[in-house]
Amino acid sequence: MAQLATIAPYTAYKPRPFTRDQRGKTTILYGGLTWKHERLMQGALHNLKYNAEPLPNIARDDLDAGKELIDTGACCPTIFTTGSLVNFLKKEVAAHGKDQVNDKFIYLTAGACGPCRFGQYHESYSMALDGLGLRDFRLFLLAQDELDQGPANGGGLEINMPMSLGLIWSILCGDLLVDLEYMTRPYEVNPGQTDAVLKDSVEYMYEVFLHRPDRGKKYGTLAWHLMSNYFTKALREVRKKWDAIEVDHLRVKAKVKVTGEFWLQTHEGDGNYNIKRWLEQEQSEVVPPPVAVWLHYLLHPEIRKLEHRNSKSKHPQMQQMALQALEKIYRGTYNRFRKALANLPNELPDQVELKQLAEPFYHFELRGGEGHMLIGKALHAYHHKKAHMICELSPYSCMPNTMSIGSMANVLGKYPDLLYAPIEVKGDAEVHALSRCQMILTEAKKRAQAEFEDVMKKTGLTVDAIRKYEARHPEVKRATYKVPHLGYAGMAANYITHLARCGVGNA
Ligand code: SF4
Repeated sequence: MAQLATIAPYTAYKPRPFTRDQRGKTTILYGGLTWKHERLMQGALHNLKYNAEPLPNIARDDLDAGKELIDTGACCPTIFTTGSLVNFLKKEVAAHGKDQVNDKFIYLTAGACGPCRFGQYHESYSMALDGLGLRDFRLFLLAQDELDQGPANGGGLEINMPMSLGLIWSILCGDLLVDLEYMTRPYEVNPGQTDAVLKDSVEYMYEVFLHRPDRGKKYGTLAWHLMSNYFTKALREVRKKWDAIEVDHLRVKAKVKVTGEFWLQTHEGDGNYNIKRWLEQEQSEVVPPPVAVWLHYLLHPEIRKLEHRNSKSKHPQMQQMALQALEKIYRGTYNRFRKALANLPNELPDQVELKQLAEPFYHFELRGGEGHMLIGKALHAYHHKKAHMICELSPYSCMPNTMSIGSMANVLGKYPDLLYAPIEVKGDAEVHALSRCQMILTEAKKRAQAEFEDVMKKTGLTVDAIRKYEARHPEVKRATYKVPHLGYAGMAANYITHLARCGVGNA
């Protein structure tokens, strides 16, 4: 009996209030995306007078810290992200003590529900806080499907339209910069120039978010975000910065589309063995996965539900029309931003097409992880020749991804020439993962080379003739010169075909 009395009953974690007067001396911690997205998000939060700081980028140590404190069956993104918070807090506690850390920081993270662990990340965080003796540390959840969630407990944090729109717009702009980065760096003539211009562009856009005008808390700010040319003007300035980068599009590179679980595919660092940088070192051009596709995907299940009349809404048709209009506005905004960057960043794929492509293999209502998108995106790249191969990042211990990959076996049975590298990421088996990827990459490189030789033969052009044309037309060597997609996966093959159509051979 005496022993029973010492066992504390389970109580669900509930954060202490974060009050308005604590804002000035409290820092919001956040993370989970790339440093580019996170810096722009910081601009949006600073604009609203919050102190905000992204957690340091995920490192290998975070895996060990996470494993120590949360349940052993957790998926690897949960372990990494929990470990990252744990390591940050441990350092702060060592420097300033628990009480100061509890008062000085709060952690803001996305919440969700559904069959995957994403809906329970906060449980892992609270388990880790218990393990650290930091039960008083405050965690707050940002729902993914509501722009105006009102004040969180205590009113210090207000998840309202200006905050949600600032964060979404910073994610969209972050995506566009990431696209520019990955399509430029493999072809840069002066090593390091892309990274330098990227850094400069991110800092410039940080200022743009920092000085975002105040247009009220409700529909005024929504209308302003949708109609103002504030961001397009800024992105045109970014384009001018990228004009300075000289590229060589004749380099033959395998184009690799990265897909997979949301966190793993977005991350750049030890959490996914730095696979995007590794692919670039292996003579590839990476097609990165924009977060914008995920946000777009989140809209669709609601539209489908309404199509099937499953909704509890009294006016399902009207609601469906409203959601479809919202989708158009969303894509329209993304396309306006792309246009300001010379239409260089990739278009968002059509969600209906992704669903139709995946339909014979995976039902769109099977939610969790990336759901049917994992299959739809692979087939989209295959049919539209957007990449030579797919590198799909699957987290260890992820139930939804295991289902999607199982279905991919069926897809590969039907499309045996689809180059697909499913990489299971545990965080501590780098050589195994990269060597698996390399096997498929070798074949992708052969395809890129064959495509190049085929185009040279068909057009009758020589490298010498192309170089002479480039010398007379230096604009084609700028990173902002748009090479149209002319039916080939590889940049070099499209570039040569385009130059042939421009009359290079006739000069
Ligand atoms: S999709 Fe998989 S890896 Fe990602 S949070 Fe859900 S369970 Fe974890």
